[in-house]
Amino acid sequence: MNFLEERIQKDGIVKEGNVLKVDAFLNHQMDIRLFRQMGEEWKRRFEGTHINKILTIEASGIGIACVASEYFDVPVVFAKKSKSINIDGGMYVAEVESFTHKCKNQVIVSKKFLGSDDHVLIIDDFLANGCALQGLISIVSQAGATLEGIGIAIEKGFQSGGRTIRNLGYRLESLAIVDGMDAATGRIDFRNNDENK
Ligand code: 5GP
Repeated sequence: MNFLEERIQKDGIVKEGNVLKVDAFLNHQMDIRLFRQMGEEWKRRFEGTHINKILTIEASGIGIACVASEYFDVPVVFAKKSKSINIDGGMYVAEVESFTHKCKNQVIVSKKFLGSDDHVLIIDDFLANGCALQGLISIVSQAGATLEGIGIAIEKGFQSGGRTIRNLGYRLESLAIVDGMDAATGRIDFRNNDENK
């Protein structure tokens, strides 16, 4: 098991409805030493790739993206959740359905902070059905920017997002892939992936 899988095994809690709670170190209380290990690992995996901007989504992606940005030495832009459709033309807009809250949000990024010269690494905490990621990918594409890759902390491999994103040809680096979990026993199974050792 790698460092993140060990931490999930130790402190992650499996909830009903395919939800993995990682509030103790990622989503509420944040373990910055762990975030640094994650940043270092993404930097290693994307070594040699030209990246000049990290894009993430409010809220839980922001902390890990900021720490990762120290390793890439690039700015972080986060897509903001906004209830109203922006009509001033100065924003890229995408619609994202929240897996955990079951509601739809517009997410927006100002055109000032993303454009056709950018080489983007998307970072997020979880990948479930891939809706958040599809929204961010749409924003990168609206900007005419180049998507160099995607770094995810925890992918739930038994949901469809990872397969869809890989089938679309994107480079997706998930630090831990959960292939199964059981709320009754608390069991968490990780994908046996050499890159994840
Ligand atoms: P997706 O759009 O891929 O279905 O879901 C991704 C988003 O939903 C993530 O950004 C994350 O905030 C949230 N999410 C999805 N599954 C889980 C989960 O099992 N646990 C937690 N804590 N958040 C999740």
